[in-house]
Amino acid sequence: MNISIIGSGYVGLVTGSCFADLGNNVICADNDIEKIESLKKGIIAIYEPGLEEMVRRNSKEARLRFTNSIKDAVTKSEIIFICVGTPSKDNGEADLKYLEKVSKDIAVHIDSYKLIVEKSTVPVETGERVKDVINTFKKKRVGFDIASNPEFLREGTAIEDFMNPDRIVIGVESKKAKDILIELYKPLKATFVVTDIKGAEIIKHASNSFLAAKISFINAVSNICELVGADIVEVAKGIGLDKRINTSFLDAGIGYGGSCFPKDVNAFIHIADKLGYDFGLLKEVREINENQKEIFIKKIGDALWNLPGKTIGVLGLSFKSNTDDIRSAPSIDIINRLEASGCNVKAYDPKAMRKAKKVLKNIKFCNSAYEAARKSDCLLILTEWNEFKKLDFKKIKKLLNQPIIIDGRNIYDPKAMKKLGFIYIGMGRKS
Ligand code: NAD
Repeated sequence: MNISIIGSGYVGLVTGSCFADLGNNVICADNDIEKIESLKKGIIAIYEPGLEEMVRRNSKEARLRFTNSIKDAVTKSEIIFICVGTPSKDNGEADLKYLEKVSKDIAVHIDSYKLIVEKSTVPVETGERVKDVINTFKKKRVGFDIASNPEFLREGTAIEDFMNPDRIVIGVESKKAKDILIELYKPLKATFVVTDIKGAEIIKHASNSFLAAKISFINAVSNICELVGADIVEVAKGIGLDKRINTSFLDAGIGYGGSCFPKDVNAFIHIADKLGYDFGLLKEVREINENQKEIFIKKIGDALWNLPGKTIGVLGLSFKSNTDDIRSAPSIDIINRLEASGCNVKAYDPKAMRKAKKVLKNIKFCNSAYEAARKSDCLLILTEWNEFKKLDFKKIKKLLNQPIIIDGRNIYDPKAMKKLGFIYIGMGRKS
């Protein structure tokens, strides 16, 4: 099939590359000239395991092309996936200006039947707006369909997630649109959920909000564990082994971050408010998440007595492991607060430092975990990278001014750390 992708970021590039790998002809478009020039050379600006190789292979076999021309992308394809960003406005509402712009651009160039698919995460009823814009601005009397096909991939395992999805959600208004999407996704042999556009839009916001709620729930329970001296890891296991609950997303810590959960929870709260429903449950989820960072900072203050002038070693900047994405990462907020309290911060991350340097201007970036530990008054774990799970702790202990580890991701065993001579502080852990 001839497919175009508009917006070649994390989701667009993975979607385009995977569809090309499945044998389709794909054009990936973006209005970022530098990004497209790099992609044409086979260089990708993000860290995503396996993606660069997949881009190069499919480009070489001429199934994957890159362009800055929306006209090129629209006229040469039958299916158009919109994959632009939908960030939060200050009031939490989803900012749909990129989506509106792309909808207008598609309208101007549409010259034959197209299936226009929202892959970006959008508030319910956005499909209606896209349809209105295209009807208003299209220059030729041609037919089109709108569909919603939300994406559930996770950064770090994006290719695997795209190729082996738990389900494929398709929101459509016509049989033609449904048949095209089912045919396109047939090679993946996944379970389809076919619904209307509004249903598909809600599925995405509700899924991310549910996962965020699960994280806030376990964080709230971890705070109770801490008050009574119980261990959240044991408690979470006991909860999660119930098949109705399951163990995933039951890791207590400094809270969720990233480019999706915070903004999607905000957007779902906002759209519910706009529709006249007060989604108090989700407001509390957001509140608990924000609080986790406060609790973590308080632990640092308690451990170090006075913060001004202290040097803090930080391990991990990305919002989770296996990605270089630092959008809404808890690390950024925590480091900014530590700096505001007069601390000096030294940080190391295996992949995210290039991006972090653009937003964290005053901290020292280190070449290894050991360099971050050297002469620091404590070591913080902010991302659960595997690399941090197997450090030489005897060396770390010698490098630190005092042997304090404050683990925001609960990646170590408190007893083992204590045995090694550390003052180890986790989140909801029994010490
Ligand atoms: P991103 O910022 O990495 O990519 C968006 C791309 O769109 C950028 O390259 C940008 O230059 C391009 N763009 C913006 N306006 C454009 C225009 N007018 N014409 C052409 N290109 C334009 O964002 P992302 O992380 O890929 O997210 C995209 C959408 O997918 C969001 O709605 C997000 O919520 C959703 N989503 C993201 C993930 C994820 O893990 N990142 C997972 C599932 C869903």
